[in-house]
Amino acid sequence: LGSGKFFVGGNWKCNGSKESIGKLVSELNNATLEADVDVVVAPPFVYIDQVKNSLVNSRIQIAAQNCWTGKGGAFTGEISVEQIKDIGAGWVVLGHSERRHIIGEDDQFIGKKAAYALSQDLGVIACIGELLEEREAGRTFEVCFQQLKAYADAVSSWDKIVIAYEPVWAIGTGKVATPEQAQEVHDAVRDWLRKNVSTEVASKTRIIYGGSVNGGNSSELAKQEDIDGFLVGGASLKGVEFAAIVNSVT
Ligand code: PEP
Repeated sequence: LGSGKFFVGGNWKCNGSKESIGKLVSELNNATLEADVDVVVAPPFVYIDQVKNSLVNSRIQIAAQNCWTGKGGAFTGEISVEQIKDIGAGWVVLGHSERRHIIGEDDQFIGKKAAYALSQDLGVIACIGELLEEREAGRTFEVCFQQLKAYADAVSSWDKIVIAYEPVWAIGTGKVATPEQAQEVHDAVRDWLRKNVSTEVASKTRIIYGGSVNGGNSSELAKQEDIDGFLVGGASLKGVEFAAIVNSVT
């Protein structure tokens, strides 16, 4: 087990309106959350300020869902790390499979973003994960290690990185990885960190699982030795269920 606290992130993706997000925040404000868990929610950029101002539960931290590779400037449509910090977010989700496979971001581009975010002291939720055809071809470890190496090559410190293993076939599909399938990859990721970064980084870096986690399957997954938390998509849009996931991990 990673030596840090459990970490549960809610990835709201490109969902919500002022109204629905207001409702979600009030559900989170009313929820009782396990004290010993880091809780982070990632609203769409345009609602971060609303969420920040209406969350009374100050232990819920905020993540952006993307960032630019460097300082802001003439980069139309981008949001800089400085702006993300200015608005009060402490984290950014990078390398999500939707950005890799729908938007077309590659390892090198993602690595640059991670390096810059960390250089400015913004925490990074670094996503990795294989496609179904890659798993079926027996390439799961190879794909995950390659994505991991791109982060490792780019960053100089692992102090503020959480790795999210998210098999693409499990994201938004309702097909959650079995606890054994997830544990096998988490263990391999930790072993890769031990061999390629350091024993210390391997033991302290949190490796969280994402892919159809819900209130019904989270506690079985959380029992696995190398699962240090979750990144939750769909179920994070329901405050009561998200709180149940947070509270299932200890
Ligand atoms: C995600 O988008 O990071 C995710 C895990 O989504 P879902 O929980 O909906 O599968």
